[in-house]
Amino acid sequence: MRILAFTCGWLTGPKALFLEGERGRLRVPVPAFLIEHPRGRVLFDTGLHPDLRHDPKGRLGAIADLFTTELEPGADIAGRLATADVPTDRIDHVVLSHLHFDHAGGLATVPNARVVVQRLDWEAGHDAERAFALAFAPVDFDCGHDVTLVDGEHDLFGDGRVVCLPTHGHTPGHQSLRVRLDSGDVVLTADACYLRRTLENDHLPPRPFDREAMLRSLGHLRQLRDAGARLIYGHDADAWASVPPELT
Ligand SMILES: [Zn+2]
Repeated sequence: MRILAFTCGWLTGPKALFLEGERGRLRVPVPAFLIEHPRGRVLFDTGLHPDLRHDPKGRLGAIADLFTTELEPGADIAGRLATADVPTDRIDHVVLSHLHFDHAGGLATVPNARVVVQRLDWEAGHDAERAFALAFAPVDFDCGHDVTLVDGEHDLFGDGRVVCLPTHGHTPGHQSLRVRLDSGDVVLTADACYLRRTLENDHLPPRPFDREAMLRSLGHLRQLRDAGARLIYGHDADAWASVPPELT
């Protein structure tokens, strides 16, 4: 078992969108992960769509006015997989933390995988009004994949080594991923916890989908950390700098 940690571009946007009330701008990594299990290859999130490189406005609409995106050649998920010598059609599962553009954006370039997503997010993404309110763009995730809809915790291989953890709140059905490596548990929080400071101070972003649910999710992540799990945050440049490209 191993995890490869990929930086699939960077976003720079108002710091207040990550930490309510703060000023200035923040540049954050867009992580995605390849988990190699004896019985399958799993991606956790897929980064940004390659079209963002030349046409951010066309791809993102109004969101492009908030964020500037950096996606150098080879940094999209297909490029990262190529560098790791893994063909994109050999990915068995894509676990999506949620349906935002910086997590689901690369899904179209991983054609044969089965998508594993929480039902609550998927259903919201397929209701035009709710999808719009959540900034979910079907172009990111409606790409014809086979989909497994999950309700709460889900053990991907039935052996406890790759487990979806419901961490709702950021979106209706946000999920994190717990990976049991030989060296210990790693929890890929995604946007249940943008930054280390989010967890340490319960410092939420503005207007999460469900504030109380998000605080409960942070409490759950804190328990996992206190029990010895290594947390990898969703968008924390400082913490990301200390995440090695391969964890075993
Ligand atoms: Zn995100």
